[in-house]
Amino acid sequence: MRITIHQTGSDADLREQRCCVCRQRFYLGPASCLLFSGCDSGRGKEVLWGEVCPACIEGGQDHIQGALGRRARRSRMIAEQETEAAEEGIADCPTLDEVLAAESYYERPMFRTGQEYEDALSRGEVD
Ligand SMILES: [Zn+2]
Repeated sequence: MRITIHQTGSDADLREQRCCVCRQRFYLGPASCLLFSGCDSGRGKEVLWGEVCPACIEGGQDHIQGALGRRARRSRMIAEQETEAAEEGIADCPTLDEVLAAESYYERPMFRTGQEYEDALSRGEVD
């Protein structure tokens, strides 16, 4: 794995990007730091993971290695949960007609704001 500095391709790239290490958004300037793994020669293929943010660059190799390790563990956990869900199968699923009937019955959401909904949830008024 390596991170290399490149001149950003065009003005259109000078915008908010998501760091491929920490997943935080950052504003990309004229210099891009790109994370690659693998290599072009031999049996492996080089993989471009994306832009690395200045905070991760400042954190250095240990910070980046730690963040990638945590993401890999989280990814394994998600893959495990998705595998279990897929193997469980679907016991019940509405038809599109049932969904459309429910939409015409409800007409609008229960609350105007997310906060009103959260407050009602915390008071146990909805489940
Ligand atoms: Zn980052």
